[in-house]
Amino acid sequence: MKVLVLNCGSSSIKYQLFDMTQNIVMAQGVLERIGINGSHLTHIPNGDSATKVEITGEVPDHRVGIQMVVDALLDDKHGVIADMDEINAVGHRIVHGAERFSDSFIINDEIMKTLHECSELAPLHNPANITGVEACSELMPDIPQVAVFDTAFHQSVPEEAYIYGLPYRYYEKYGIRRYGFHGTSHKYVAQRCALLMGQPENGLKIVTCHLGNGCSITAVKNGKSVDTSLGFGTIAGPIMGTRCGDIDPAIIPFLMDKEELNPHELNNILYKESGLLGISGVGSDMRDVEKAAEGGNKRAQLALKVFAYMNRKFIGAYAAAMGGIDAIVFTAGIGENGISIREMICQGLEFLGAELDLEKNQVRGQEVEISRDGAATKIFVIPTNEELMIAQDTLKLVQAL
Ligand code: AMP
Repeated sequence: MKVLVLNCGSSSIKYQLFDMTQNIVMAQGVLERIGINGSHLTHIPNGDSATKVEITGEVPDHRVGIQMVVDALLDDKHGVIADMDEINAVGHRIVHGAERFSDSFIINDEIMKTLHECSELAPLHNPANITGVEACSELMPDIPQVAVFDTAFHQSVPEEAYIYGLPYRYYEKYGIRRYGFHGTSHKYVAQRCALLMGQPENGLKIVTCHLGNGCSITAVKNGKSVDTSLGFGTIAGPIMGTRCGDIDPAIIPFLMDKEELNPHELNNILYKESGLLGISGVGSDMRDVEKAAEGGNKRAQLALKVFAYMNRKFIGAYAAAMGGIDAIVFTAGIGENGISIREMICQGLEFLGAELDLEKNQVRGQEVEISRDGAATKIFVIPTNEELMIAQDTLKLVQAL
């Protein structure tokens, strides 16, 4: 059984082809600059980056892009399948499923209609995801497709955690509420955490920290998301590379007034000029900020302190929300690799029983426990694998057809 996982962005397509029977990634890659000059595909067959190939060509739209991906998979030299029919199913990462989707679904006309309706809430992401589905329908009409939503895992968050303190009519009229994102990642690492602890998810209280360019923290109780730091948009919670995280909403009209900004300009500041970049003035990449901080740059040091503090505060808040905590998980680029930032975040969490073992913490990108032996609350690094999760959901649904 072979499953192609697609993550279609506005100008890119990331893909992985899984052989689910043998449990291996047959090929992976990314096509960049769709609709822009200089489109190119980086294709890695058989999980071996030494055999990586770069393919260039005119890619005006996603249909041509997906055809290019399929051609790479079928190629005589660097391909991994002999016929397109070998692909049994396609799993799509879909960013927003609003309140309509709390699980993954086989895509049909009705689901497509609902996906279009959800686009209003994610105008940058959902239209590109939908284009990817439509392109596949054209190119491989007989292959079933599955939608796996970033928001689905958080549909279990109770209303007291997802309703904002705004007039209720805006929830009813526009669907303004906390939705949460990175759900596939949080679900995956929470499941792995329970496995590593040798306990069923039911009964466990886990705080999962997805810290990459975008960051979110989730409270996972009995295997279900009960609160999460991203909300209506993808900007709330701890600061991120360029996003401001939680700020006092009073700042928004104040700044618009003082700087004579329109909503678009203000959005740009909050999403693209804030966070690590905004505070440090150095950059949005954690490695650059850490390097500047080590060199004595005071604002870079401050950015790191703010990042660690806000993350620590969320971990504490979610321990309170769940009435306890059994484990903390770090994942994504910073969570998996940021040795010193993990140490900064965990400083002061000992009162929760979470004691970091400084030696065990010297790891990057490995699935490993990093808390002291015997600590009441375990701390783990667990590399995320959203693509595998999408492939597993796809397989499950297609096998049930
Ligand atoms: P992601 O969005 O998951 O790809 O994560 C990107 C973030 O991970 C960037 O801020 C990188 O600086 C950060 N990152 C990657 N490697 C390291 C590392 N070795 N130490 C600290 N941060 C890292």
